[in-house]
Amino acid sequence: MTGNTQTLQEIRDFQGKYPRQLWSLFFTEMWERFCFYGMRGMLVVFMVSQMGLDDPTANLQYGAIQAFVYAFTFIGGVFADKILGFRKSLLWGALLMIAGGAVIAFSPTSLFYIGTCFFIIGTGFFKPNISTMVGALYHTDDSRRDAGFSLFYAGINLGALLGGVIMVYVGKYHSWAIAFGLVSVVMTISLINFLLTQKSLGPIGLSPMHPDIPASRRRGYEIATYIGSLIAIPFILILVTNTEYTDLFMYIIGPATLVYLGWEMRKFNMQENKRLMAALVFIFFSILFWAFFEQSGGSLSLFALNNLQHSVLGIPMDPNVVNNSSNSLFVIIFAPIIGLLWVWLSKRKLEPNSVVKFGLGFLLLGAAFYVFYSTIFFADADGVTSLDVFTLGYFVITFGELCLSPIGLSLMTKLSPQSVQGLMMGMWFLASAYGQYVAGLLGAGMSSADPNATNTEKLVSYTDGYAQLGLYALVAGVVLVAISPFVRRLMKGVH
Ligand code: GLN
Repeated sequence: MTGNTQTLQEIRDFQGKYPRQLWSLFFTEMWERFCFYGMRGMLVVFMVSQMGLDDPTANLQYGAIQAFVYAFTFIGGVFADKILGFRKSLLWGALLMIAGGAVIAFSPTSLFYIGTCFFIIGTGFFKPNISTMVGALYHTDDSRRDAGFSLFYAGINLGALLGGVIMVYVGKYHSWAIAFGLVSVVMTISLINFLLTQKSLGPIGLSPMHPDIPASRRRGYEIATYIGSLIAIPFILILVTNTEYTDLFMYIIGPATLVYLGWEMRKFNMQENKRLMAALVFIFFSILFWAFFEQSGGSLSLFALNNLQHSVLGIPMDPNVVNNSSNSLFVIIFAPIIGLLWVWLSKRKLEPNSVVKFGLGFLLLGAAFYVFYSTIFFADADGVTSLDVFTLGYFVITFGELCLSPIGLSLMTKLSPQSVQGLMMGMWFLASAYGQYVAGLLGAGMSSADPNATNTEKLVSYTDGYAQLGLYALVAGVVLVAISPFVRRLMKGVH
């Protein structure tokens, strides 16, 4: 059967473990994450080595950019729901990212911020909407959905790993202009991949506007959205380059989204609204999860820089390479396996429900932070400790992530009525923006205030912090398991 004749029903009635459209979305997202994590890896190094920023300023700037990237997914989600549909949003997002890479490549130091703004808004239009389309491939009660998201998540991490290594390498050792230019090239690949396969998506992601609205008016709304997002760029530039505005923005955007959701909820029945309340519980807990998890980009990378040996299982290895890539590597290997495990358990009626999976995610997160803490028992007199144990921590944290992050994506698509799917996916990622933000505060609180602290003092201060995070994560896990009957009642039949 040719793809474009498939109805939604036919797409969702697929045989086998995964719908075939998943692969198209897998590769489209893989290339996008290649660029995202490539950019992310380059940001601080570029700002410090090429733009002359000092470390604290570069870190603040990095945090602000990260927060804005995730915060704009909310806006991208809303415009997809109301005007563009998921497909056109994704196309527009990809075009903005291609433009962003080209702008920076043209003159890296002088056009860095303006190009970054294109990237922020482009990711906003792209990121939430591709995940929503994955969810649309399944019937609401299809128990294969979490497995699909797990596989999709492996694609995310494959892109993250390749981009993080290749782009940073090209930038650092060849040319920053080429590295940023690579963003445009790779996003073009992502876009072409999507264009070539989008027909197989049937009606998924087409215009959400009512068919009664005349075509010319619809076109007008779409063009206004495109133009509006371009006009927003100078404003985003002001927000990004003045990090004091980041705080203000973060104080406003979260409550604003809640008010907006409350407004949308008036259209839904009691059952739909209860499910949305359950989605908010998951979103709230995910803020906490990412706040701990994202120590990887901050305190754990400094810990890796100063306090770890340079070998894993006897093989010479830079600790920062382990810090930056082991998690992605573990996800790529284990995400599909965990996904199939959910399907296997579900066939035997043993699959834990989503709330319990979230709880497990936190328990594993807690266990991982206790493993990071335990590095103190392996330290030598210079405060240098085992990279093996540290890597084990990443191994454990990855399983926590796999119980929470792909499941969260899956849940947003299950719990949200069609007309707010983009909004809810945007809120899920907005929680990541808050997580990043809180992660920076936690990391700063953990680092030793004394700039002349010895390695051993740094070790003590970080590992103390990790033990505390471990404890809080365990408590959160227990709370989740304890409230699971209540949340499940809100979810009304969605697992
Ligand atoms: N690593 C995942 C991704 O890049 C999840 C990120 C997040 O939600 N913080 O999509």
